[in-house]
Amino acid sequence: MLEIRQKRVLMIPAPFEGHLPSMMNLASSLSSRGFSITIVRTQFNFYDISDHFLDLRFYTIDDGLSESDMSSLGLVDFILKLNSVCEPLFKEFLTLHDDVDFIIHDEFVYFPRQVAEDLNLPKMVFSASSVATSISRCLLMENQDQWLLPPQESKLEELVPEFHPFRYKDLPVTAHGSIERLMLLYSNVSKRDTCSGIIHNSSNDLENLFTSAAEDKWGVELYLVGPLHLTDSATSCPSFFEEERKCLEWLEKQETNSVIYISIGSLAITQEEEFVELAMGLVQSNQPFLWVIRPGSITGSNSLESLPEQFRQAVTHDERGFVVNWAPQKEVLGHRAVGGFWNHCGWNSSLESISCGMPIICRPYSGDQRVNTRLMTNVWETAFEVEGELSRGIVEMAVKKLIVGEEGEDMRKRAIIMKEKLEASVRIGGSSYSALNRLVYSITRS
Ligand code: UDP
Repeated sequence: MLEIRQKRVLMIPAPFEGHLPSMMNLASSLSSRGFSITIVRTQFNFYDISDHFLDLRFYTIDDGLSESDMSSLGLVDFILKLNSVCEPLFKEFLTLHDDVDFIIHDEFVYFPRQVAEDLNLPKMVFSASSVATSISRCLLMENQDQWLLPPQESKLEELVPEFHPFRYKDLPVTAHGSIERLMLLYSNVSKRDTCSGIIHNSSNDLENLFTSAAEDKWGVELYLVGPLHLTDSATSCPSFFEEERKCLEWLEKQETNSVIYISIGSLAITQEEEFVELAMGLVQSNQPFLWVIRPGSITGSNSLESLPEQFRQAVTHDERGFVVNWAPQKEVLGHRAVGGFWNHCGWNSSLESISCGMPIICRPYSGDQRVNTRLMTNVWETAFEVEGELSRGIVEMAVKKLIVGEEGEDMRKRAIIMKEKLEASVRIGGSSYSALNRLVYSITRS
């Protein structure tokens, strides 16, 4: 009997918390549509997820890099190094596996690009960021001499020409290293001339203002297939950190829309002074709060014991606050008791909150977080930003404005409308559903 071989798609996720789960959701979607999927992961930041994806094959590239390489090099230089170390190892891998038909790689792990070109293998880039972020990186590269990066103080509040509503200060130039190295990374990340498409974990409903500009810029088809965690075949990808699910029991005891949830993702670091002001502002707000304090996310002391007595009282005695190292965030955001989110505005958190109809207090740190903040505050209008030095009074006011104020209520209403649109977009006939079908067709005929 003649056996028809399914196309084998090789997928290479970036080894970061904000990147792996969204690519794994895409892998599940493609697998459920009949493709054979192989996931190639780096040894760096590796933890086993294969039990959750039994239909997929997994390989690991032994890059020999560790957490201490990342801390000593800084994020930008580390990613550049990771790519140069992995390129020859990936070439070796492909010479041993000749059944690969198609490659999809995260934009930050661009090491497969040259190898795929040499072997004439078709490929696409996957972006775990917003379309607006991709455009902003390109604008920075194209104008780096003219704009004298980082932008001068006098220019920060000005709108970037032809990229409204973004200001110079919203552009992702907060370097974890020198501007020259950041631009080198961006030029590698943004190189799309030889790929046959760009896949974004985003949706037309969120970013239709920017999609045609992006298509013009790269001259290849864009597939906005997200939010991927909402798609039918989405499989929950375990996290690098252990989730503390007992916070869901605590949420059960709280009133509807009363809790402020605070988390700053997997990489951001808060200064100790800001940590104390945030803690005291939460106490003063009188609202119940669920706070993720990721180990290592505070400079200096990381211990609750070092916080003022009033805070400890609120957590241990009054049970008005609940603190965890890591939360099941999507479930928390979807819980009826949670009424608002204090967040650093990483793209995944932004997508997860809007998918739950959740308004946000934005406190961006670096990278694309300022771009996402501006999207939420000025395009979706489901959030407001707390800028500048943080004091307990500012935190108290912001929390009250979001959870019990009229403005917060208006933002929540707009967020709920967006949530409904997003749910429709991943269903049959919706824009993300159709984009996924176009993607499947494109891979099939490649
Ligand atoms: N997250 C989580 N529990 C937490 C904090 C974060 O599961 O306590 C997840 C969150 O749901 C999101 C990811 O970690 O999917 C963070 O990604 P994001 O792009 O928001 O930020 P990054 O970590 O890349 O800065």
